[in-house]
Amino acid sequence: MKIYISADIEGVTGVTHWDDTRLGHTEFAYAARQMTREVAAAARAAFEMGASDVLVKDAHGTGRNLLLEELPERLRVHRGWDNSPYSMMAEVDGGFDAVLFVGYHSAGGSDANPLAHSFNSSKLESIFINGERASEFIFNYYLAAKHGVPTLFLSGDEGLAVEARTFDKNIYSVGVKSSLGDSTLNVSAKKGAELIYDGVKQALTKKDVHPIYPEKFDVIFRFRHHQDARRASFYPGVEQVDEVSVRVVSEDFLDIARAKMFIV
Ligand SMILES: [Zn+2]
Repeated sequence: MKIYISADIEGVTGVTHWDDTRLGHTEFAYAARQMTREVAAAARAAFEMGASDVLVKDAHGTGRNLLLEELPERLRVHRGWDNSPYSMMAEVDGGFDAVLFVGYHSAGGSDANPLAHSFNSSKLESIFINGERASEFIFNYYLAAKHGVPTLFLSGDEGLAVEARTFDKNIYSVGVKSSLGDSTLNVSAKKGAELIYDGVKQALTKKDVHPIYPEKFDVIFRFRHHQDARRASFYPGVEQVDEVSVRVVSEDFLDIARAKMFIV
């Protein structure tokens, strides 16, 4: 069994403010340590469930957050960015049996995390896929689903955890914090890691799961500034739908991810 983990930081236990998420800030030390602890818990559970290979994509900011010396020895870690449309899902392919998301956060436009956003938050306000507001989780889910790889686990803020298991009932999801305004209410750092360890063990008992992959993706990218929508409208296949939004339609989700890579 081969497992792919994509790890972000805004959905990690305790992380509340942008300063927590930025390499170089004093507060970042805790966030990186806890992100590492949560990824390690997920990987340990996967190995104990029989995984022969676990690849983790460090998928936040610089892509250089995880403390490698504190991760299980057999884990492979993808650091930095591969400059492909796969981005937070770099190197995922049909050879993997399942995807696990750790530390993920609610979408731009949601109030379930003070750090809710979708990809480049200074440019992009929100993304809609087939009429539904889509989080980074949903976007990345489809990049794996394209290769037939199901998502079986997600941890992050409670809002996203509920969204994930509602979206695909085969996902076991764990919320480590809830949110009101600029605040978060968290479980302890140790408990967060324990919930993830137990959750991944539960998640990996599922067999023969097929991911959701619609016949067609009708995607709206809604920008913060009209200038960015106009610029994006010149990318092949992209149509401007209002002052700040463009549409891309394809049966292949990689086309959507490719357009995002160049227009966002
Ligand atoms: Zn992030």
